[in-house]
Amino acid sequence: MTGSVHQKNLSSESNAFSFGLEVIGKTEPLIAEYIRGELQNQRSQLKLIASENYASPAVLLAMGNWFSDKYAEGTPGHRFYAGCDFVDKVETLAAQNAKELFDAKYAYVQPHSGIDANLVAFWALLAYRVEAPFLETKNVKHVNDLEDEDWDFLRKAFGDQRMIGMSLDAGGHLTHGFRPNISGKLFDQRSYGVDPKTEQLDYDSVRSLAEEFRPLIIVAGYSAYPRRVNFAKMREIADSVGALLMVDMAHFSGLVAGKVFTGDYDPIPNAHIVTSTTHKSLRGPRGGIVLSNETDLAEFIDKGCPMVLGGPLANVMAAKAVAFSEAKTTAFQTYAQQVVDNAKALAEGIEKRGGRLVTGGTENHLVLVDVRSFGLTGRQAETALEESGVIVNRNAIPFDPNGAWYTSGIRLGTPALTTIGMSCDDMDEVAEIICSVLSATSPASTTSGEESKAKFMLSDNVSVDNRNRCAELLRLNPLYPEIDSTI
Ligand code: PLP
Repeated sequence: MTGSVHQKNLSSESNAFSFGLEVIGKTEPLIAEYIRGELQNQRSQLKLIASENYASPAVLLAMGNWFSDKYAEGTPGHRFYAGCDFVDKVETLAAQNAKELFDAKYAYVQPHSGIDANLVAFWALLAYRVEAPFLETKNVKHVNDLEDEDWDFLRKAFGDQRMIGMSLDAGGHLTHGFRPNISGKLFDQRSYGVDPKTEQLDYDSVRSLAEEFRPLIIVAGYSAYPRRVNFAKMREIADSVGALLMVDMAHFSGLVAGKVFTGDYDPIPNAHIVTSTTHKSLRGPRGGIVLSNETDLAEFIDKGCPMVLGGPLANVMAAKAVAFSEAKTTAFQTYAQQVVDNAKALAEGIEKRGGRLVTGGTENHLVLVDVRSFGLTGRQAETALEESGVIVNRNAIPFDPNGAWYTSGIRLGTPALTTIGMSCDDMDEVAEIICSVLSATSPASTTSGEESKAKFMLSDNVSVDNRNRCAELLRLNPLYPEIDSTI
């Protein structure tokens, strides 16, 4: 374990983390050791997980303090607990920063994660479209005032609602109405997919599905779709069938904040409600937000607690406020554009070395590679790359013959590598590393002599050689250069 090193000549960031680890280590030395270990790991691997990033020291430090101890159920000025003066200031500032950043009329910054943000949004829409009109017909203000039989009717009405979202193999997310998630148990759901030829979103088929199925909610947004979505078109479809448009911009909110996605591609002016995580391309703390330009919806979103949330994490709301301030700068706009330029350079680098790109390219922060072009499954590619110092995740591709476990794809994202300063030239070297590993990997046989979907062969020389190339890239683009390597 590295000892205490706080010194006058170290940066304040180095000293902050060094002091912190010393304090933690006095109580549970193993945790201090694991925190140091995680930093070392992150500093020694090329992080291409599309949903991850590196938050700034200011964001990380804003989370580790006594705001963590405070209960504050409710909203600023309307709490169920006393003593919330400073939590109120934190939440108000975080919401204000979010509104300015996204040019939104309303922001709710309490959700603890993306899944929570989506749940808050679903219930806000149900409360707005199903509960509130029913209460009005019964001439009562609150669900507690309903007769038992009316309450039974309302509960059933919640369960009768329909929604449509992007299919999982086209790049959608589990929280968009799929059965393993609560959203799939709550809603009657149908999926829209992509065109089999172009692998891109087919707006005509979204329209046909919406006209036939008449959903209450249309969800747009994705986890693994390498293209932009035209939210103006999606809104037009929603309006034509009387549905509400919800956009989950968890993956690309950094590109919206950084003004890369504007006009028809900006969800805020086009959707009824927008949700996001704060830790992916937006580069904040782990958390969620809900935004809306529909002032009618605000009172329903505000009821996220107690609808699906308990007490907000005031320390994380503080970190969100810091992250939103960072994202309001022109430096962040430059960053967001570079994320997209880097993804394009990475995609071109892979394609020219024989990799097939799903949809033929990228318009956002992610690249989906069909690794069957290297004779591999996603599972084999993911592990071979990990052994060679490159961290990616396997991912289904549209109409994937290998299913959701082995998959035929890997998903690559550029937000993290762009944060540490990598350029388009670096992306060509990253593409070279990836393709040289995948070209040198071949499937092994199972015990029964068939081609394995998991086991593979890769010579140590290739993985060592590529680990060295990754190390060189990371030496030139270090993670947290302001934090000393000896903390
Ligand atoms: N929505 C989308 C589109 C996502 O990609 C994710 C996470 O991968 C989530 C929601 C859930 O976010 P969290 O892991 O913060 O709950």
